[in-house]
Amino acid sequence: MTGKLNAWNGRNVTMSRRLTLVKSVLTSQVIHLLSALRVPKGILKLIDNKRKQFLWAGNEVLTGGKCKVNWIRAARSKKGGGLGILHLGKFSRALRLRWLWKLCKKENGQWLDSETPCTTKGKQLFVASTTITVGNGDNISFWENAWLQGRRPRDIAPTVHNISRRKNRSLRAALLNNNLVRDLDLLNAHFSAAHFREYCELWHQVTQTRLHHDTPDNITWKLTADGTFKTKSAYEAQFIGSSATSFVDFIWKIWAPPKCKMFSWLAIQNRIWTADRLAARGWPHNNSCVLCRATQETGIHLFAECRFVKRIWDAIGTWARIEGLSPATGQPFQSVEDWRTMLARLPSNEAKSLRSLIMLVIWKI
Ligand SMILES: [Zn+2]
Repeated sequence: MTGKLNAWNGRNVTMSRRLTLVKSVLTSQVIHLLSALRVPKGILKLIDNKRKQFLWAGNEVLTGGKCKVNWIRAARSKKGGGLGILHLGKFSRALRLRWLWKLCKKENGQWLDSETPCTTKGKQLFVASTTITVGNGDNISFWENAWLQGRRPRDIAPTVHNISRRKNRSLRAALLNNNLVRDLDLLNAHFSAAHFREYCELWHQVTQTRLHHDTPDNITWKLTADGTFKTKSAYEAQFIGSSATSFVDFIWKIWAPPKCKMFSWLAIQNRIWTADRLAARGWPHNNSCVLCRATQETGIHLFAECRFVKRIWDAIGTWARIEGLSPATGQPFQSVEDWRTMLARLPSNEAKSLRSLIMLVIWKI
């Protein structure tokens, strides 16, 4: 990555182009490795710092002023209000789940003895996203797969799992000749009543299991329509619960050059260096709006409330025959996003054209 970065002249590249480079070169470069290795968090952070620095500052030193939106937000999906940069930790977890999938499907022929690069969190995600139907028990890992009414035996009886000397037996092998019991280290110094209780609970459930010797085990992935594993679905599942924004319709899906979209994305989050934000940091700024010279420049003032700018919106509204484009006097907006939402709801036969027009006017202002 550093080699690539040194060859690029980030200063002369616009931010939208730097974003493309971050996504399609810096990120995709490491994906292959991430799918096979359990990469330490520190390394992911280092990679993230490189991506962050290039996006915001090109080849220059990254300072607080250049970093306009925090990285966690920028790395969200576009639907979630971010730039759609991949979150490396979550994406690599999703990539590595394919190993567990392949193990269950016996796709790589080295079942049970190989150690997958999956972390505990990854395994839990896998358990929550799959349904297992017991057949002959050959493809199911007794301890690791959630075959017992949707739960893993190691979760039902964690202390028994601890004293088992063969943790990688298949379901069939574990049930054969009572291997499950033979595997237990009963002379273990820590053997206690808790072990016994959990063992009884587990045994009670296991004895109700019947293997079907003629049918293979079946595993389905709950997050796709056809029941097969897709990395994308495993990645997106990790964002469930985060709020959705309308940025895709407002910004990313409309007709405008990428630099205008990028600017609009910053503007809607009030991340443009207007005078109020410069003042808050104690940086040099004009005391009054340079257009009307009447009041302090804020994001919402600059784009909607300045009387100079209102005349522009009036003229555009008349020209394009759109009513309500110019903000009415005494119509206070909480934020730029508030105002953009109002604009996006204007009645129009061609919503996308209208949104594009609005974005281009904002860019010109
Ligand atoms: Zn003004």
